[in-house]
Amino acid sequence: MEGSTCICNNNRAPTHLDPFGHHLTTGCSCGGYRHRLHDDVKYEVNSLIRYAGFRTRLEESNILNQILPGVRTDDVNKRTDISIFNHDGVHQRTLLDVCIPSSVRFRNGRMDTSALDVGKSAARAHQTKISKYGDACRNHGFGFKTIIVESSGYVHGDTCSFLLSLAKSCAVEKNLSVQTLYNFFLGSVSVTLQRGLANAIVGKYHYVTGHGNVENGSSIDRVVQSLADRVC
Ligand SMILES: [Zn+2]
Repeated sequence: MEGSTCICNNNRAPTHLDPFGHHLTTGCSCGGYRHRLHDDVKYEVNSLIRYAGFRTRLEESNILNQILPGVRTDDVNKRTDISIFNHDGVHQRTLLDVCIPSSVRFRNGRMDTSALDVGKSAARAHQTKISKYGDACRNHGFGFKTIIVESSGYVHGDTCSFLLSLAKSCAVEKNLSVQTLYNFFLGSVSVTLQRGLANAIVGKYHYVTGHGNVENGSSIDRVVQSLADRVC
């Protein structure tokens, strides 16, 4: 895989694939795999919220474009990821935005190793989302929370707090300890992410090698073997 390039920057400097698969999973939108990974986590979190006893709706339209001041072009058709209807008894809905940021950055097509600090990308994504939607939601009677998991597997603190609150809300009804439920929720998100990452790495590598320029030849078997070698 090392030495291969992605097809996302064909007209500029080629983006070299990093040895950990971050670019293949969340580095660019080629092949739709980043979007698929985002949706995998979204559906799993929605399932956990419903398991905890809350009513939800996915991708509700006509909320964000009504509450955001001076609707920007890219927000006109934007939908919420998850809406919770009976979450806290205060807001008419709590809106959740799911984000799976890449743990690494690329400069001039190569991985910037100085950006490998765990949690840095998650913190940046959280701040961006809060700045963009936090006040707007609050001013219109909506709650707002982020669900952020880095491609490294790091889960943002506010996401952990949200999952813990879910566990606390249903522990008595489920006759399970809060810790057991919290571990289950966190583990479910982690497994979903890892499964999505694996699918994205293999699928996107196939997509890239089928349409792009890859040095040293390639095959899915080599990718899988390369990943297995790194895990073992
Ligand atoms: Zn790319």
